Amino acid sequence: MPDTVTDRFLRYVVIDTQSDPKSATQPSTEKQKNLGRLLVEELLAIGLLDAHLDEYGYIYATIPSNVDKPVPVICFCSHMDTAPDFTGTNVKPQMIRAYAGGDIQLWGDSQQIIRVSDNPALRDQIGNDIITTDGTTLLGADDKAGLAEIMTAAQFLVDNPDIKHGTIKILFTVDEEVGRGVDKVDLRKLGAQFAYTMDGETAGHIEDETFSADGVDITIQGVAIHPGFAKGKMENAIKIAGAIIDRLPKHIAPETTSGKEGFIHPTGVTGSMEKATISLIVRDFDDEGLDAKEAMIEAIVQDVMPDYPGSSYTFEVKQQYRNMKVVLDRHPEIMENAVEAIRRAGMEPVRGSIRGGTDGSRLSFMGLPCPNIFAGGHAFHSPLEWISRQDMEKAVQTIVELAKVWEERS
Ligand SMILES: [Zn+2]
Repeated sequence: MPDTVTDRFLRYVVIDTQSDPKSATQPSTEKQKNLGRLLVEELLAIGLLDAHLDEYGYIYATIPSNVDKPVPVICFCSHMDTAPDFTGTNVKPQMIRAYAGGDIQLWGDSQQIIRVSDNPALRDQIGNDIITTDGTTLLGADDKAGLAEIMTAAQFLVDNPDIKHGTIKILFTVDEEVGRGVDKVDLRKLGAQFAYTMDGETAGHIEDETFSADGVDITIQGVAIHPGFAKGKMENAIKIAGAIIDRLPKHIAPETTSGKEGFIHPTGVTGSMEKATISLIVRDFDDEGLDAKEAMIEAIVQDVMPDYPGSSYTFEVKQQYRNMKVVLDRHPEIMENAVEAIRRAGMEPVRGSIRGGTDGSRLSFMGLPCPNIFAGGHAFHSPLEWISRQDMEKAVQTIVELAKVWEERS
C-alpha cells in the first residue's frame, strides 16, 4: 500500500523547517534542506527521475505526460518552511479520530484550547479525523499539508497510468514565510505555463486575488533648538509625526476593515526633535484604491505642516506587490479548470481573495500565473493550528481531477 496523505503529513511535520527573516543565507535556515532531501528521495522512489534539490534549497520534479496531444504544462507548488512566529521544534502531532464536536483541549499546555467560537470551520468537521499539535509548537500544516497532498497525488498519477494527463511539474520552495519564497526560482528550468499553490485554508476554496501593496515613508525635517531657548522657534519633528498619525482615518485600518476593503497601517515610527520618519503600508485590491489612499495620507501631511512653517517633509511611495487577478484574468481557463476540479472532487467551489500576498502573486507577475488552492489547514502560524485528514484527501483528489481536466480540455 502506498503511503496515504496523512502518513506523509505526519512524517513531514516532525522535521523542523522554520525559516528566519534575520538570516541572509539562502535558504535562510539550513535545516529546511533536511526535509528537502527526504522529499527528493520520496519523489525518486515514486519514479520521478529528474527530482532534485538545487543549491538554493528548491525542489523540481516532473510527472511526464502520458498522452500524445499537446497539453499545457501545469505546476503544483508548496513551501517547505514554517513561520518564524512560533516554534516548530519537536512537533508532536495528535490525531483526534471521529471528532465529535466541541472545543479541543491540547494536552501539552492547559492554556491552549482550539475553540469552536474562534474556529467556526470546526462545525463542518464532525466525524472527521483532526490533527493538532500538543499545544507547545505550531503544526506546520502551512504548508506541509500542501507538500503531502502534491506528493500523494504524484504517487497516484504514476500508479494509475490509465488517468490521462499532460506534463505536470512539481515545485517545492523554501523561505515563503519570510517573503523570499520565489527569489531564486528558475522559471525557465521549471518550464510550466500555469501553476497552482496548494497553500490555502478551507476545503473547496480557491483564491485568485491578493492585495495590491505599497509602502509609504514620510520623513519630517523639524526645527531643532536647545529647549531652554526654544519658545516660538522649536518645531519638534516627533510631535509633527504624532499629529499626522493621530489624523490617520480610523475606519481605514486593519483593525476596522475586512473582505474587499483596503487599509492604511503605520508599521513604524522613528525620530528625534530634528527629524522623524513614519513608515506605513497601504493595501487595496485595485490600483485606484491604492492611489486614493496614498493621496489621502499626503493630504493629511499637507494639512498638518502649515502649523510648522519652518519644517518640511518628503513623501516616498514604494511598490511592494500587485493583485495577481489582473494576470489571471488574461487566462480564465486557469480558474475555470480549478473550479471544475474542485466540483468533481465533491465540493462546492468558493472563489475568494487574500488579504495579503502569496508566492503565487509574485510568480504571476514573474510570468507564471498562479492562483492559490486550499490545502485544508486552519489557524496558521500558531499552536492552535489544525487540519483534517478528510480535507487533505479532498485536496489530493482536486489535484488529480485538475490534471484530468487540463488534459480533457486540451
Ligand atoms: Zn503557506
